[in-house]
Amino acid sequence: MSRPNKDRDNGPNLLDSFQSTARFRNPIHMNQSTVKEHYQILILGGGTAGITVAIRFAAIIRINRLTTHLFAVEKYRKTLEKVAARKDIDVRLKHNLVELKPDSKEAIFEHMDTHEMVTIAFDMIHVTSPMSAPDIIKTSPLANATEWVDVDKYTLQHPKYPNVFPIGDCSRLPTSKTGAAIRKQAPFLVKNLLSAIKGEPLVAKYDGYTSCPIVTGYGKLVLAEFDYEGKPNETFPFDQSKERLSMYLLKAYALRGSIGMACCGDWGSSDSYRSDLGD
Ligand SMILES: Cc1cc2nc3c(=O)[nH]c(=O)nc-3n(C[C@H](O)[C@H](O)[C@H](O)COP(=O)(O)OP(=O)(O)OC[C@H]3O[C@@H](n4cnc5c(N)ncnc54)[C@H](O)[C@@H]3O)c2cc1C
Repeated sequence: MSRPNKDRDNGPNLLDSFQSTARFRNPIHMNQSTVKEHYQILILGGGTAGITVAIRFAAIIRINRLTTHLFAVEKYRKTLEKVAARKDIDVRLKHNLVELKPDSKEAIFEHMDTHEMVTIAFDMIHVTSPMSAPDIIKTSPLANATEWVDVDKYTLQHPKYPNVFPIGDCSRLPTSKTGAAIRKQAPFLVKNLLSAIKGEPLVAKYDGYTSCPIVTGYGKLVLAEFDYEGKPNETFPFDQSKERLSMYLLKAYALRGSIGMACCGDWGSSDSYRSDLGD
């Protein structure tokens, strides 16, 4: 059971966010070159999480199981490839972890195409295992063959059960699973659910918007925002594929508050939804 957190229970607390960020930053900063010179660090999988951890540690090797590119969207990938080169990160894709030998500190990978077995020694390994829905969902009739809750990617309605509208991490929506994506999904869900209740056609169409804030250094962040087609869908009137201090500050200090507001309903008035239902 998780420990109750007074600040979290009371909603977003920017001061707490500021202090914890500062506490985290300093020790890693001091050790970064030592880490790189003396330790073999493997960062395995995890998409954005893997990239972020690799960059933080100036890691030696970053490994991804399935993808053929460092990042799916070309505009941001170009920047991230430059960051990887600058930080001397040895990126290896399509390597599937099949065995860990903690005594000899070795990780064994199978190449997904050639099936060649590759052994890499490590001093520290960070593993993000493949994600899945909880068993209760996987085994439910709501799930499809991929074991996520099935969903029409535009209307957010379940294809078999019209009174079910899945969003968020448990859904099969083919976009990156983030809180930012959920913030955009929720208003579409509400509109279409109201239409379904009233027997009207579902006209609101979610475009797959998601956002991946990727820290690329101390005080630097790439704010990737894109849709189902991998088309950038950026919030700000400047090129967000560039590493920026402003985006770092946004992530470190401001976003936590805005996510709190989103969760409290400030992105769309719940009153208006209620009046739509004649409540
Ligand atoms: C380390 C980390 C960093 C992240 N950083 C970002 C970020 O910077 N920006 C961003 O936008 N997103 C970020 N995300 C992603 C974001 O946190 C998730 O996309 C979001 O929380 C998913 O929300 P959800 O409600 O769909 O699922 P969850 O938040 O997982 O909520 C599911 C809830 O269901 C409950 N539950 C599960 N099983 C049962 C059951 N059987 N009975 C009852 N309750 C159950 C769980 O306890 C949980 O409370 C991050 C995620 C992680 C792990």
